[in-house]
Amino acid sequence: MSQRREELARALEGTEERIAAACQAAGRDRDEITLVVVTKFFPAADVATLVELGVRDIGESRDQEAKVKVGEVRDLLGDGRPMPTLHFVGQVQTKKAGSVGSYADVVHSVDRERLAQALERSAQRHDRRLEVLLQVDLDPDPDPDRGGLAPADLLEVAERLDELEHLRVRGLMTVAPLGAEPQEAFARLAELSARLRERHPEADWVSAGMSSDLEAAIAHGATHLRVGTAILGSRPSHR
Ligand SMILES: *Cc1c(COP(=O)(O)O)cnc(C)c1O
Repeated sequence: MSQRREELARALEGTEERIAAACQAAGRDRDEITLVVVTKFFPAADVATLVELGVRDIGESRDQEAKVKVGEVRDLLGDGRPMPTLHFVGQVQTKKAGSVGSYADVVHSVDRERLAQALERSAQRHDRRLEVLLQVDLDPDPDPDRGGLAPADLLEVAERLDELEHLRVRGLMTVAPLGAEPQEAFARLAELSARLRERHPEADWVSAGMSSDLEAAIAHGATHLRVGTAILGSRPSHR
């Protein structure tokens, strides 16, 4: 085994142990939870290695990087191995929606109708279906750069998205506000999820929890964890 492969295998195992312990503490089954390994800033070779180690769900957050990497991963895996499910977890500029809709399977960060419409057009053009999550901003002092819908707008936007044929609203996503207790944000997200499900019972995914707060997310019902650093290491510094 190469050194990097060993490193990734060990980190993956460590993360699985944390997930197992948190599931046990919360009385939940491991198979209620999807681990999305966020590989932004790391090379396609790492993605291919993770797939070989059994990872089925990969997260990316920057279109320019992701669209190139998807092709590289496909080449590295060859015909024998299925591609992982690609989750787009970062902010999407409306003008990038055409590209993101051509390769992503799940978009976690839909936070406005215009973006949803642009993704719909892209999915239609490429004859694909996209699963989408509505990103909610739970920061009492919202930062527009981080994205996310105001909780008050959630149900109305979900209603409108129902009309888009190539998108399927599967649930909610949030990033715990900086400097606040993640527990509080995740409890709030769970409440919003329950309200959304009254009208949209199939929208039962809850994407919450990253390297530093996955235990809190599992305690509050997360179905999807987005974990980068704890598995791949610190991201290479960038511009
Ligand atoms: C990068 C990223 C993650 C992963 O964060 P880590 O702290 O490295 O685990 C999760 N969610 C989103 C939206 C991200 O951009």
